[in-house]
Amino acid sequence: MSLTVVGSIAFDAVRTPFGERDKMLGGSAVHFSLAASFFTTVRAVGPVGDDFGPDEFAILESRGVETDDIERVEGGKTFFWRAHYAHDLNVAHTDETQLNVFGEFEPKLSDASRTADALFLGNIQPELQRRVRGQCDARLVALDSMNLWIETTRDTLAAAIAEVDCLMLNDAELRMLTEEPNLARAARAAMEMGPEIVVAKRGEYGAALFTADGFFAIPGYLLEDVRDPTGAGDSFAGGFLGYLDGVGAEVAGASDADLRRAMAYGSVLASFNVEGFGSERVQTLTR
Ligand code: AMP
Repeated sequence: MSLTVVGSIAFDAVRTPFGERDKMLGGSAVHFSLAASFFTTVRAVGPVGDDFGPDEFAILESRGVETDDIERVEGGKTFFWRAHYAHDLNVAHTDETQLNVFGEFEPKLSDASRTADALFLGNIQPELQRRVRGQCDARLVALDSMNLWIETTRDTLAAAIAEVDCLMLNDAELRMLTEEPNLARAARAAMEMGPEIVVAKRGEYGAALFTADGFFAIPGYLLEDVRDPTGAGDSFAGGFLGYLDGVGAEVAGASDADLRRAMAYGSVLASFNVEGFGSERVQTLTR
């Protein structure tokens, strides 16, 4: 079983009420890869600048993540995101986004990445998600996105969503995308755009799974020490899709039990993630 992921590979500067970091490894593909690596072989795809060095590669490789398709652009700068959280940790306030090497990125997947069994289109420009989707014939494809892309590239994002099996957004993004305030109706409206499965991530309240004829919700693990929610959504997606790929589930054939177990693993990885800044806590986990 193997799983390809494209998404941001980033340096993040983050401030929460519990501390801050000026420059830590982040990005949707990074958080996803680390979480999914507990269940299956993960191949990360995306560009980095020459400021991305051996220490950053080592964090991914120490969890067995395949980094051959991470393209290092000489003279380029890695994607950068600066954000802060106030006391409501469910809401990230973006202060700065620099696409840097992602602005010019032309994805060219290796054979190993192209033929992976599953594909995660992590949060990044929807046009790039489509170009990667077009090169990969995975049997299980999931997509995440965010408010920035819903606001600025809605049509391309809708086209990307039409090409996947599973849409994973947080509840506010799902409402924004479908312009439907009720979550159940928003999930139905999203399914009409193409995907058979919709997962609404709900921060500390957990996540909800919608299928054609089913509904399942799981809470987040109740924690007293939460430091930084950055990457929780991607860690959830990594646990969810990593587990499904690890058991060889196909979307049409995924049993209700597998989907529910995948939700539980997603919730576990997300809960670990928020205990430390960035991926610091997940890096310490063993299985
Ligand atoms: P989340 O799981 O939603 O908390 O995602 C957090 C990660 O998303 C951070 O590590 C950021 O580097 C990354 N990120 C923030 N904004 C964007 C963006 N516009 N496109 C892609 N990745 C982003």
